[in-house]
This record gives sequence, C-alpha cells and structure tokens, in this order.
Amino acid sequence: MMKIILVLTVVFASVFVNGQDIYYAEPVKIPILLSGSFAELRSNHFHSGIDIKTQGRVDIPVYSVANGFISRISISPTGYGNVLYIDHDNGTTSVYGHLNQFRPDIQNYIKNIQYERKSFKVDVQVLPGIFPVQKNEKFALSGNSGSSDGPHLHFELRNTKTEEPVNPLKLSFYNIKDNIPPKITALQLMPLSEASHVNFSSNKVIYDVEMVGGKYQIKNNQVIPVYGEIGFAVEANDYMDGSANKCGINSMELTIGGIVYSVFEINRFSFDESRFINSYIDYEEFATTGRRFQKTFVEPCNQLRNFEFTENSGIFDPGFEGVHPVRIELKDSKGNSSVIEFSVEGKYREMPPVKNDFISVFECKQVNQLKTEEFSIEIPEDALYKNLLFQYQTKEAAKGYFSAVHQIHNKTVPLHKNAKISIKTKDLPESLAEKALMVNINPENGKFTSAGGKYENGWITADIRSFGNYAVRVDTLPPTILPLSIASKTTLTEPEKIRFEIKDDLAGIGTIEGLIDGKWALFEYDAKNNLITHYFDAERFEMNKKHKFKLTVTDNRGNISVYEATFSK
Ligand SMILES: [Zn+2]
Repeated sequence: MMKIILVLTVVFASVFVNGQDIYYAEPVKIPILLSGSFAELRSNHFHSGIDIKTQGRVDIPVYSVANGFISRISISPTGYGNVLYIDHDNGTTSVYGHLNQFRPDIQNYIKNIQYERKSFKVDVQVLPGIFPVQKNEKFALSGNSGSSDGPHLHFELRNTKTEEPVNPLKLSFYNIKDNIPPKITALQLMPLSEASHVNFSSNKVIYDVEMVGGKYQIKNNQVIPVYGEIGFAVEANDYMDGSANKCGINSMELTIGGIVYSVFEINRFSFDESRFINSYIDYEEFATTGRRFQKTFVEPCNQLRNFEFTENSGIFDPGFEGVHPVRIELKDSKGNSSVIEFSVEGKYREMPPVKNDFISVFECKQVNQLKTEEFSIEIPEDALYKNLLFQYQTKEAAKGYFSAVHQIHNKTVPLHKNAKISIKTKDLPESLAEKALMVNINPENGKFTSAGGKYENGWITADIRSFGNYAVRVDTLPPTILPLSIASKTTLTEPEKIRFEIKDDLAGIGTIEGLIDGKWALFEYDAKNNLITHYFDAERFEMNKKHKFKLTVTDNRGNISVYEATFSK
C-alpha cells in the first residue's frame, strides 16, 4: 500500500571516526539517562524528541551539540516553555526545551523584545550572525518551564528545511546504554467487518501474554478461533539500562504464515501527521481505560507515513479453515528485539447483527454535515480515520445551562481536525450574550470544561477537536488573584520578586498586565502552576522608592480582576 524510502543519509552525511558519527556532542555533561524516547506515545502526538533526566533538579548546564547559530528563541507559558533552536551546517536543527535560563546576552536580547512587545509570550527567528555557538559551548541552564511535569531537558533534532523531527538515537547518543528489549504486556485482536469474529465475539478481545523460552506468547498458548477481516495490536513499552522510565518502541513487523503483512518504523515524522497517533493506537481503548495498543494495520484514512510496507493494509482474513502462525516483532532504537508468536484458526460462525442507533453514515474522505433546528455540525474531509455510523441526540440540560445538552457521537472516536459545531441558546438573556460559551461535559461526573466559541444571533459556534456532550453556559466570574509576596497591599515579603497565583474558573486566563508606576512590567507566566512572577529589574525601573503597583487579569469572557498595592523597593 505505502512504500516510502527514507533518504536520511543525504541530509545527515557527516564525519565518521572508527565507524562512529562524532558530528554531535552530548547536550549535557552528566551521565545521560532518558525519561522519554523519540516517538513515544503521548496524548494526541508522538513525542518529537528525547527527554534527558537532569538529576531531579533545574540549572544543569546545557551545551550546543555542534557548531551553529541560535536561529529561534521562544518563550511560552505552555508547551516547550523557554526553548532555543540551533541551526547546524549539516542541515539539522537542535532544539532544547523547558529551559530555566538562557546565556545572559541571549536572555537580555529576548527580554528587550518582550518589553518592546509588552508580551511574556514571544517566538522570534534570529539571524545567523547574532548568536553563533561552538560545539560544546554552554548557552543555557536546564529547567522545568512550559508543560513539563518535572525538571528535564527536552532535546530534539530536526531536519532544518522540513522541520521534521528525527530520531536522535539513530544519529548520536552512542553512549546511551540500552540492552533491554521492549516489554510486551498484552495482545489485542479486533474484528474489522460485520461478519468478523474473534473467539466468536464481535468485539475486540484482549489477551494476557507471558514469556516462554525467550519469546512472548498468549497465556495458555491457545489457538484463537477467528473469522473474516481481523487486525492485531500490541501493548508494549521499552526500557533502558539504569532507568525505570517507560519509553517507546521504534519498529514493529507483522508476519503471518511467513508472509510480511506490515512494517512500521518511526525515525521521522512531521508535526502535521503526529496526530495520526490516534488512529495508530486503539483510541477507544485509550479513551476508556488509558491503555495504548499499537496497531499493526492501517485504517483507511490514516495517512501516517511510518507504515513502510503493508499487505492488505496489514489486515488479515484467515478464510474458513486452517491454522495460521502469527509473529509480531518489536524493536527499540538500539535494535533490541522482542517477539510474540501465537496462532489463529479460521472458524466460520454466523454473527448476530450489532445494534447501532446511528442517524447518518459519515465517510472519512468527504465533508460531513448534519443540521437540525437547534444544532449543526460540519466535519471536514480527512478528519475521521474510517467511516463512522454517526450518533447524535439531545438531552434536557440541568440548571445553569442555556441550551440542551447535545450528545455528539462519543469521546471514544477520535477527530483528526476541528469540527465546527453550532448550538442554539435557550433562555439566554441578551445581557449575558457576551459571557456565553460552549462547554464539554464529562458524562460520568457532570464536570465541564470550556470549549470557547462565539455568540451570534442566538447561537454559539465553536471548533471542537473531540466528540462528546456539549452545551452552553456563561462565565460571569472574574479570575482570582492571590498575592504571594505582598502583605497587606504594602509590605514585600520576598526580596527579589513579586509573585501571584492567578486562576479562572471556566473561560480561562486571557490577558495579564502588571504595571509598576504606570509602566509595563514583565511577568513570567507558569501556566501549569497558575503562577506569575516579576523579578525586580533595576535597569528598567527606578529603585529605592515607593512604587504604585497595579495588576489586571482578564479572562476569555472579558471578566476583569484588578489588584493594587503600594510598596517600597
Ligand atoms: Zn520531551
């Protein structure tokens, strides 16, 4: 079906000494242990780099892996946090994420831009002559900024031109020790057509596995009766020497009766296709139990290019009889391999029809729409991974809502692109129109989160990226501001900085503006901790005097909180 030959060698031609590529040095000078690997399975994306452990702390020196220049500096309350990009002369870019500090001259450069733009969040391209760096030159300190759940260095190598991340372990990091093969923890068989069954069930079946004689097999090693088109998926993680962290696998090959059915390998991908992970894994299982099973077959509208070869999309049909030996081999980036072997046997049985209250068939290769008097949805083409028997119904909402609850299919089916939905409001006073927003309601506990949206003529329209239950609410409450460094609005309790905890109940934090004596002051925003911090800056603000301070925080529905204080510094 798909055959892609990866020509990495052209881009990455470099210096070899004794068979080892020494183009890249290591970005930290402590022993390298990983807490995350390239293409590891994450929520809605494959991990684009490797996570290097930093001994549980911040401020570990970070070094350039090769000669080059700083080409991009970005600062964000989420995502990569403080991140630097270095372009190298071999056509690659190295990326260093979640940093705590940049080198002072780089830090000053970006701080000036933050003050010019009056924005904490900045993302700037930098010309080659400004910050050249040498291989092994220290240029930053590691940290925990952005969406990081503990101190570490997120390190990435990208093809500079295509911006595609590539697997650093295939190009560098030869000192990383990994002698541990992937661990397979379960196997899944899925019936893929109406007539199919797995062990006489129309539903998928999960099998526990065990290691016998160096290979994995299904517990009790029974032959599984199947019929019709079926697919396989494995639950597996990789581990590396000296670290208990779960990492991801690098390749997977399915062979049935000696014939190769699919070859998957992930040493590069584009950010555009990273979300196809939701088709590569059994998303329904993930959405309901949190377990990730990796499929050895390709759904019709999954365009992930990492299936290098498939026979019949990796889907197997055993026919009416015969025992078929199945073998799946998994490898990590260092080539350590694990194999699971089992057998399926073709056994026909007529399956009772599956009941499904769908109202429309949505095809993945086309635009799909549905309109009622109080609801509409438009799903662009290539937003679904396979054709969908679309379900939709409404339910009376509880108190506090300004519409019915619209049950839009269910959260176990992934969406690759935004779908546009509109919901008609009910009993919404005109005065609250600008406070109205769409919420996604968790059917299990009734909790809801903002899905944003725009009000117009009695309707709210929003882009959603997951199916589920949606309705309209209003947010009339301003954000809360909790001072952490000022007592009684007059006395500083920390010498170098002023900090606040800021939170919003529904719409989310929109803008933050801190003014010292009427002048814009930079507040660093750490979204995961709801924390903003200003470090006193004698170069920009006159010190040793009484200051008038004003902080204004606005949520995404225009509700405003103001905190004012007077302090000496
Ligand atoms: Zn990472």
